[in-house]
Amino acid sequence: MHNIKKPKIDNLEQYLENCIDKLRKTKIKTKNMIPEIVRKCNLYEKNASNNTLYLLNKTIFDDEIVQNQSFKKLYDNHMSKQSSYAYDLYNKLLASAPFDKCPYCSQGDVEELDHFLPKTDDGYPEFSIIPINLVPSCHRCNHKKHEFIPTNKDKQFIHPYFINNINDHRWLYCKIDYKIENKPTFIFYINCPNEIETSIQECINFQFNKLELAILYSKNAANEYAGIKSIIDKYQEDKETLIQLYSDKAKSYEKHIRNSWQTAMYYALLEEIS
Ligand SMILES: [Zn+2]
Repeated sequence: MHNIKKPKIDNLEQYLENCIDKLRKTKIKTKNMIPEIVRKCNLYEKNASNNTLYLLNKTIFDDEIVQNQSFKKLYDNHMSKQSSYAYDLYNKLLASAPFDKCPYCSQGDVEELDHFLPKTDDGYPEFSIIPINLVPSCHRCNHKKHEFIPTNKDKQFIHPYFINNINDHRWLYCKIDYKIENKPTFIFYINCPNEIETSIQECINFQFNKLELAILYSKNAANEYAGIKSIIDKYQEDKETLIQLYSDKAKSYEKHIRNSWQTAMYYALLEEIS
C-alpha cells in the first residue's frame, strides 16, 4: 500500500460541462446536476481526508435514466474509450502511480482505473468521471475490490490520494515456516504500532485481507527466494556475508516502500540468521 499524489483539476464545472456536452439524450438533465456534483466533490474531499467516506450520503436522483446510464456512459464512452473527450486525462491518471505500481498492493502493474466509490446504481454514479475517485490499480486488486461500498469506519480501503502517511511506520511483517524441509514458506501478517490511528489500523487489516495480499506476497517471496537460493547456498558457511546481504536488501527495499513484501521478507531472513 502506498499513496499517489492527488490529481488536480483547474475548473471542475467546465470539465463536467464539456464531458456532459458529449451526451445525446440526457444532456440537459445531467447538466442540471453539475452544481450538486461539485458540492458532492467538496464533501468527498473532506470525508476522504478524514477517512470517513463511509459517511458520504448517496445522491437521490430525480431521473432514473440519468442515474442508471448517463454517468456510466460518460466514463465508458467519453473517458476510457480511445480518442474520447477525456481520454488524455484517463491516461494521465493511469500514469500517475509511482513506478507504475498499484497503490493497493504495491506489487501489480497499473492496468486500469478503479472507481474508489463504485459507479453502480446502488453506489455513487455521480463520481464516475471525477479524478479524485479514479485510482490507477492492477487488475487483480480492481477485481477483488470489485464494487465495494464502505459502510463502516473500520471496513474501508485506504484511499491512495488522501491517506499520505501510510508508510511512516512499519506494519507489514513476515515469518518463515519450514514445514517442508529446505523449502521455506513465507507467512505475511500485519502488526500495526500504536502510532497509527486505530481506524487506519483496522483499514490496513481490512484491505490486506480483502485483497488476499498474504497469498500474493507469499507466492512472490517463494519465487524471490528461489532466485537467490544459489547465493544462499554459496555463503552457507559464511554467515556474516549473508547477514550483510539480507540487511542491505531489507534497508534498500524499506527506503523504496517501507511496507513492501520485499522489506518484510528480507527482515525475516535477517532475523532468522542473526
Ligand atoms: Zn494491486
